[in-house]
Amino acid sequence: VKKNRNIRMVSRLLQAAAEAMADAYAPYSRFRVGAALLASNQKIYTGCNVENVSYGLTICAERVAAVKAVADGQREFRAVAIVSDGTTPPFPCGACRQFLAEFALPGMIVAAATRKDLADPRLLTLRELLPHAFRLDKKGTTSRRASR
Ligand SMILES: [Zn+2]
Repeated sequence: VKKNRNIRMVSRLLQAAAEAMADAYAPYSRFRVGAALLASNQKIYTGCNVENVSYGLTICAERVAAVKAVADGQREFRAVAIVSDGTTPPFPCGACRQFLAEFALPGMIVAAATRKDLADPRLLTLRELLPHAFRLDKKGTTSRRASR
């Protein structure tokens, strides 16, 4: 049952990501990407890639969706779907993996699919994509502060 619910949730996210892709601003690469993120409030936040003439300022679709969720008070992500109009499923870049890890619930799902093949996504957990995410030792920081 849980598996079926996950499949429905993922296909809903993929659909939302594909729709978000329509707003991509990608005049330089012509590589359009859409993302849809499910937060713990059950709301879906979408994003698209936004390029810039100064290439390094370009922002990926996943990070746009994540920032929208956080700006709406959400700090726990359950799943994200990413869709592109390329020929292979668009897994998040290294920067986005780390950015998503900041707010990922354990077992957060990452689904990637091409626009033409939405029904056949690649599914992984964020942990599988970024097994050793950078973390600060928050516990140590807290106890030091508490001891003052
Ligand atoms: Zn990225």
